[in-house]
Amino acid sequence: HSAKAAGSGYAVFDAAMNEKALERLDLEADLRRAVDQEEFLVYYQPKVELSTGRIIGAEALVRWQSPERGLVSPAKFIPVAEETGLIRPIGGWVLREACFQAKRWQGYLPPDYLPVVSVNLSAAQLKHPGFVSEVARTLEETGVDPAAVVLEITESMLMDDAEKGVETLFGLKALGLRIAVDDFGTGYSSLSYLKRFPIDTLKIDRSFVDGLGREPGDTAIVRAVMGLARALGLDVVAEGIETAEQLALLRELGCDYGQGYHFARPLPGAEAVEFLARARLAVGA
Ligand code: C2E
Ligand code: MG
Ligand code: MG
Ligand code: MG
Repeated sequence: HSAKAAGSGYAVFDAAMNEKALERLDLEADLRRAVDQEEFLVYYQPKVELSTGRIIGAEALVRWQSPERGLVSPAKFIPVAEETGLIRPIGGWVLREACFQAKRWQGYLPPDYLPVVSVNLSAAQLKHPGFVSEVARTLEETGVDPAAVVLEITESMLMDDAEKGVETLFGLKALGLRIAVDDFGTGYSSLSYLKRFPIDTLKIDRSFVDGLGREPGDTAIVRAVMGLARALGLDVVAEGIETAEQLALLRELGCDYGQGYHFARPLPGAEAVEFLARARLAVGA
């Protein structure tokens, strides 16, 4: 930049704006290429039954293995993927990968043990008219038991177009899979959707788990969610369990399932298989 440009407030502002815009365009271009080259990986975070310590499955969490940028976290590229529409091919790929993986897990474990894979969805996927048949095709192609698949949506996705959303979720349920509400309690929404939508599971956001035992408000919220879930016949999964104390409190509050660094970080597919197989041996299932 010239000294003159740097001296002017507007010019500095423009330059910063410009740099941000260029960075964003660069990310977008790289992401497009990444979709063509299939530069994505799926990690799996084990999900645990809190009363027994048994692993019941895992959540699929996408990563972008970029030749230039290294391993990029979803927080960085999912928003751009959503704005550009790239989330549809990426999300479709993640679902297929995760279903293949769940099918593979079934092969390693006794037939009575069905590890479940959870997959995060974005609004653009759910809203796409062909989504239910796309999922049906993926289930068929991968041969996974639909009962082994959970789709995670967020509260805000149920708000934009409620009528269409109800129809889509019932369509997905009819395929035999289950629906979870992710980051429960953080969305700005009315609870009435819990009556109208075929929801199976609430995932308590990790911001509430974080303050358990320290922040009376967080403990109260977790207790209230447990009561709500019990009354509505829903399962509860607590996210982001990091300490033994949080685990003990969640068990005391009657929480069924959980995930978090206390048990395991998200693992590459091969390590997740080993983890599942070992965990199964540990409980003698
Ligand atoms: P999420 O679905 O709520 O996933 C939980 C996030 O919390 C994951 O971050 C996970 O690694 C992290 N986490 C798990 N346990 C702990 C813990 O004990 N402490 C802390 N501090 N964090 C923990 P990750 O993998 O970076 O994913 C971030 C978000 O990106 C996800 O939040 C989800 O909203 C989105 N995402 C990930 N994969 C996909 C995908 O395939 N499709 C879509 N649409 N979104 C995805
Ligand atoms: Mg999730
Ligand atoms: Mg979450
Ligand atoms: Mg989230």
